Amino acid sequence: MKPELTKLFAHLKKDYKIIAPVKKTRGIFLSRINDPKKVCFSAELTKNTFKEFLFPKKQTLFNFQGDKLIEPANSSYPKQAIFGISIIDLRALLVYEQVFRHDPYYQNYRNNSLIIGYLSLASTDQTFGIFEERLEEDTLEHLEFDVFALATPAGIHFFSGSSKGRQALIGAGIENFENIEYVGPVRESGLDPLMMANYKKVKNSFERHRLVWEELGRRCLACGKCSLVCPTCFCFASDQVFGQTKRTGRKTRRWDTCFYSEFSRVAGGHKFLDTIAKRIYFWYEHKFVRIPDEFSIPGCVGCGRCIAVCPVAIDLRQTLKDLAQPPKTMKQLVKK
Ligand code: SF4
Ligand code: SF4
Repeated sequence: MKPELTKLFAHLKKDYKIIAPVKKTRGIFLSRINDPKKVCFSAELTKNTFKEFLFPKKQTLFNFQGDKLIEPANSSYPKQAIFGISIIDLRALLVYEQVFRHDPYYQNYRNNSLIIGYLSLASTDQTFGIFEERLEEDTLEHLEFDVFALATPAGIHFFSGSSKGRQALIGAGIENFENIEYVGPVRESGLDPLMMANYKKVKNSFERHRLVWEELGRRCLACGKCSLVCPTCFCFASDQVFGQTKRTGRKTRRWDTCFYSEFSRVAGGHKFLDTIAKRIYFWYEHKFVRIPDEFSIPGCVGCGRCIAVCPVAIDLRQTLKDLAQPPKTMKQLVKK
């Protein structure tokens, strides 16, 4: 292992649980480690992402007894150092940082976590994701992280992105690092041109490209796998679990996805998204239209995980290409 990272891990282990990429039979996964020798430094995209560590699949928000709310103690939020987050996943983290900016439960996880980005220039692939974006001079200024480690042939170059990150580096005896000041998610050159191009393709396309969406609706199994692996999907459902009486119990939340048929059910039983075609359009619209509208950042970072897991080979690159074409007939689409 690189000596600078050995120092960092040895220091972090005193205060944090360490989560890092580990090679397993089915790929590289972010996993809890006790032995830093297990860390995989290939800088390939991990199968899972930061999201399960900052926004657990299921969590208790609070307990209640009559009118009294009992919040979980701060100690129930783990102190965790999440190492090995790629540039592309740091872009996805920006979505969480915007959406959950005022969500105390997310913030409790985030405040107890040290986010450590990682990129290896020795890696054969220095492009990121399916939209082929590269590391540029100002990339780090537009990302939120605590520490970033750039592996170069000459050794590790460290960057700090927060005071927590600076403290961790100094505590580990690493004094040679660069401070990066976060200046917001949007570059000086303006809105991401690729985001805007995809925005135009998807916006209001349900009627215009009805056959594209109907064909996708016919193929899609509504299994939700794409959404569960997606580092920018953040929808959840809340439940109230009652104790022996209705005056005691707990409020929980769990991951949910707009692909599930119950997702859009409202009081009275009506479902707004009553076909799979509507649900898949809603998913694309959320990523390519509503998130850019609300936060000026892409809701899809192009990691390709949704493509890798889809059992019926639905590929958003193809969908975006189809939406860029003049509307097609059903016959043309089926022949493809
Ligand atoms: S490529 Fe797929 S999984 Fe990755 S961010 Fe975009 S929608 Fe999500
Ligand atoms: S993984 Fe594929 S089949 Fe499953 S919900 Fe997503 S698009 Fe549909």
